[in-house]
Amino acid sequence: MDAREFKRFGYECIDWIADYLEHADRYPVLSRAAPGGIRGRLAEESPERGEPMEDILADFHDIVLPGITHWQHPRFFAYFPATTSGPSILGELLSAGLGVNAMLWQTSPAATELEETVMGWLAGLLGLPEGFKGVIQDTASTATLCALLCARERATDFGVNENGFLQGGGALRVYTSTEGHSSVAKGARIAGFGARNVVSVNVDGSYAMDPADLKRCIERDLAAGHRPCCVVATVGTTSSTAIDPLGMIGEVAGRHGLWFHVDAALAGSAAILPEKRWILDGVERADSFVFNPHKWLFTNFDCSAFFCRHPDILTSVFAIQPEYLRTDLDPQVVNFRDWGIQLGRRFRALKLWFVLRYYGRDGLRELLRAHIGLAEEFLTWVERNPDFELMAPVPLNTVCFRFNPEGSSLSEERLEELNGNLMNEVNASGRIFITHTKLGGRFCLRMSIGQLRTTKRDVAEAWEILEKSTVVQGWKG
Ligand code: PLP
Repeated sequence: MDAREFKRFGYECIDWIADYLEHADRYPVLSRAAPGGIRGRLAEESPERGEPMEDILADFHDIVLPGITHWQHPRFFAYFPATTSGPSILGELLSAGLGVNAMLWQTSPAATELEETVMGWLAGLLGLPEGFKGVIQDTASTATLCALLCARERATDFGVNENGFLQGGGALRVYTSTEGHSSVAKGARIAGFGARNVVSVNVDGSYAMDPADLKRCIERDLAAGHRPCCVVATVGTTSSTAIDPLGMIGEVAGRHGLWFHVDAALAGSAAILPEKRWILDGVERADSFVFNPHKWLFTNFDCSAFFCRHPDILTSVFAIQPEYLRTDLDPQVVNFRDWGIQLGRRFRALKLWFVLRYYGRDGLRELLRAHIGLAEEFLTWVERNPDFELMAPVPLNTVCFRFNPEGSSLSEERLEELNGNLMNEVNASGRIFITHTKLGGRFCLRMSIGQLRTTKRDVAEAWEILEKSTVVQGWKG
């Protein structure tokens, strides 16, 4: 593709993206594709000869777009936000244009030094204590796996890395709450702890980890000859954004010499708000911490910020020095390939730098406050309607609720069926997309607010669609 052709189609794509982001609500938010429906329209083999860009882009519109669920739609209220933004896209575009592999300092000094700088900025924004050093990972799952590997190695005097798993002694145990994210269990499997050695700690009435139960679990394990190794606390659980009490958990972890990792994948962003900084109270006791700018800090996927208080442990676990990667400058510089699993690394710091500079601290705070305000407003509508029930506290942007008609005394099974039907009906409308979870075994709907373009009108529309659904109205009729 020569420069002229690149410019022509490049401008066309930028025009299209700009228009798309302004009007993403023209599309049904949840894709209506049936399984196999997209695949069936794609060529079975790659083309023998090159095809014109016009044809490729035409197929993007005709075939690919109908199979897209629109995460940037202002009424995408499912799972968690994954909001992109103009500055982020431009940073991503330039990064793609440069095509840099940021594996070593030498392979692009600016990529490494920008990453060190923006991670320092983020640490400042979140009020992380001195000593936390940051590295960008692809996802929180990877960051948590890195933390688990560090915990494992510290607990075995770097023995598993060196000798493999054939060691004596009791099983290494990992603790997270019953509301902890599945990435902890997955990471524990991958890191060789074994699924059975992930201990589920009870939660309190607000779905936050109960530190007293953590203490009990650890003591029980010690008595049984196990080796407690790592605690993963969650700030903003996936189901309901419950906030684990970091101070008390850190105290228990510290007393037993456990690695203390904090998973704040979604909610960490909210710590940039002075009035919400309390969510990280106690983080000074943590050994590592992760949050995802790709969730709620307007930086497109992927961009996960991982901070570790012991970069020496991190690099002892991950550094490996084949001759072909050595450079004379190694003693003076950071080589981020030694800070995680991958060798090759994308230049993600660029888009994050663009976002942090374009919006500024005040701009980012304003956006987050607006989302939290909308969630609080939605919560009041739920509370005011006697046929709906609030299912968990709302510290941030996510409201868990369900339809539970007043005076009906329906069984949990019937409520699950009714709310499942309600969710499917409103999602089929194409106008909103919400998802569900279970809290304490009870089925509930989730409204997660965090899109850049979501307004009060969108949230009000969601509530109206729910209230006017045939499930709700049919019950009354
Ligand atoms: N941890 C929590 C609390 C989450 O809510 C999520 C995402 O849903 C994750 C981890 C996983 O994030 P990622 O997709 O970046 O691995």
